[in-house]
Amino acid sequence: MKKLLLIFIILFHLTFYGQKESICRTPSYTNWTYMQQLINLNIANSSGFINQSDMHAKVKIYVHVIRRSNGTGGQTISSTHQAIDILRADFCPVNIFFDWDGEIDFIDNTNFFNSPSDLIFNVNNHNDGIDIYLFDDNAPAGGLANGVGISSEYYVSGSYWYYPYNSLITSHVISHEMGHVLSLWHTHHGTYYEGGDPSQCPELVDGTNSSVCGDYISDTPADPNIQFNVNQNCEWTLSGVDSNGDFYTPDTSNIMSYSSPDCMSYFSNQQGRWMLNALNTIPFLQNLSKIGYGAVDINSVDCGNNSSSSIDSIKKVKVFPNPTDNIITLTFNNASEIKEISIKDKFGKLIYHDFCNEKSTTINTETFQSGLYFIEIKDADKTFIQKIIIQP
Ligand SMILES: [Zn+2]
Repeated sequence: MKKLLLIFIILFHLTFYGQKESICRTPSYTNWTYMQQLINLNIANSSGFINQSDMHAKVKIYVHVIRRSNGTGGQTISSTHQAIDILRADFCPVNIFFDWDGEIDFIDNTNFFNSPSDLIFNVNNHNDGIDIYLFDDNAPAGGLANGVGISSEYYVSGSYWYYPYNSLITSHVISHEMGHVLSLWHTHHGTYYEGGDPSQCPELVDGTNSSVCGDYISDTPADPNIQFNVNQNCEWTLSGVDSNGDFYTPDTSNIMSYSSPDCMSYFSNQQGRWMLNALNTIPFLQNLSKIGYGAVDINSVDCGNNSSSSIDSIKKVKVFPNPTDNIITLTFNNASEIKEISIKDKFGKLIYHDFCNEKSTTINTETFQSGLYFIEIKDADKTFIQKIIIQP
């Protein structure tokens, strides 16, 4: 079975990833039975699909560093810790925490070192946690999991191919690949054919099909596939319309987009909920994590060295109710910092603008036309974007 899967993956690579450099080499392969179960639970919004705020997960991870046979090269202890800190900080806001004992398994093998591939998954792999294999910054660039919600290992290797050529290991790509292991598709899923999903279709900008098309996640805006076309301000440099003629406004900050790794910064609330429910329902993921209910004891988890900026950050914004009709409430974990709040319509036109340094605020949307909007919240160094739907 494992061999068959491997052949499939190799074929897929040749046909699909032969074309161009890609940060993510994860094949679009999935266990459709499990994914369909998640999609259906999400659509039904049944009690079987638990809200992110009511649930948290502690996931065991193992960390491997690949070096040359003589022990040279590869990630240092400090860069390995830096990578895991980024992973932890990215997942903390969505109530997913990583349990790592701090041990690094050094795999000293020049053949593996020179040619990152999924063959590394056969080395020192565990059944009770997610195995993360980290290659050298000078190795060929990319990250790879076995598929979307397929099995519990992935690797990251090399450096981004645009200036200043930052390491992909100490970047949000480490979180992007973890997203695939925890069953997330790319935000542009459905825009070109990918295997393993018989019901794929592109998401519409107006969000009307967002729970049955695209990435099946309704608070991530329709994404036509950014394909790394972002400028230094993390703005998408191309433009395009969907089949309704509506202009795309993809979120270049989302970790599951094909944005620059320097721009990827967060998972949406619904992506968090999706991953938590995957951990709760998909058999191979159930073995790797401990699910807890209610609020987590913040002293019992590690959110990386950036914890103060990530836990208290604007990423902890709550926007509700959504959809809404006349009043939106925003709550923030971090009250002291001044935050700039903007609401734009689906064409990018500014509809509302204000500043807030309170713990919560409300916005009257009675005069807004019904439809899709994007609420953008900025603090000194981060931007949080969420799709909101105003009902008639
Ligand atoms: Zn990917």
